[in-house]
Amino acid sequence: MFTRRLIATAAAAGMALTLAACGGGAATPAATGGPAGGDGIKIGIKFDQPGLGLREGDSYTGFDVEVAKFVAKELGHEEGDIEWIESPSAQRETLIETDQVDLIFATYSITDKRKERVSFAGPYFIAGQGLLVRADDSSITGQDTLGGKKLCSVTGSTPAQKIKDAYPDVELQEFGTYSECLPALLNGTIDAVTTDDTILAGFAAQSQYAGKLKLVGEPFTTENYGVGLKKGDTALCEQVNAAITKMVSEGAWEAAIEKTLGAADYTAGPGNPPTPAACS
Ligand code: GLU
Repeated sequence: MFTRRLIATAAAAGMALTLAACGGGAATPAATGGPAGGDGIKIGIKFDQPGLGLREGDSYTGFDVEVAKFVAKELGHEEGDIEWIESPSAQRETLIETDQVDLIFATYSITDKRKERVSFAGPYFIAGQGLLVRADDSSITGQDTLGGKKLCSVTGSTPAQKIKDAYPDVELQEFGTYSECLPALLNGTIDAVTTDDTILAGFAAQSQYAGKLKLVGEPFTTENYGVGLKKGDTALCEQVNAAITKMVSEGAWEAAIEKTLGAADYTAGPGNPPTPAACS
């Protein structure tokens, strides 16, 4: 009897402990989901674009990351509440449509075709398509010297589409991400990488490519970077636009540029910083 009572007491005590633990645990979701808005947000970025969106271990850097963090904060989400999701060019619309991300900041150009599936806040930056070649190659000097050349770009990107539409005599190799083009450029399998000048400058500034690569020619398209979000979510779009406008007026946009693309020797072109367009 004595033994059994001891066991029963211990069991009751254990139960009390468990309940106490549950009570303590229950406070956690309530606290994080409170009106302060400290709940999670899933943000899509690139993971392999230095100066824009780069993951190194647990650290995320680049201009897109800086804008994303500023906007998230304005929306009530601290940096620790952000879940970063890799968003390769061809997957961005699907990631938004299937709720795998809430917002995308991934060198994502606003286009009418993409607007059929998603909505955009912004633009928050204007870039232009450029060409990255080997430093010792003098045969490519701009988009008019691409005849017969092998170019590398990324599936589902506007620069790949531009080459197919405007330069049909170019041999285009498409990969899933831009970083995959770099080894092919260095070993001579391809002659140039083409995408936004921002992305190319970010790669060229990497220490492992020092003296090996150069950007040539002038930007030959206009790429308006937007914040991708669920199609028709005008309320969210307006909140994001207000945050971008604040980032610019407070000087945080300029500071973010200097810290990221500025460090890659990139100077923002005319029209920057842009004024966000009306949400629809
Ligand atoms: N800004 C262009 C685009 O949205 C090229 C960069 C990218 O692929 O992310 O397609």
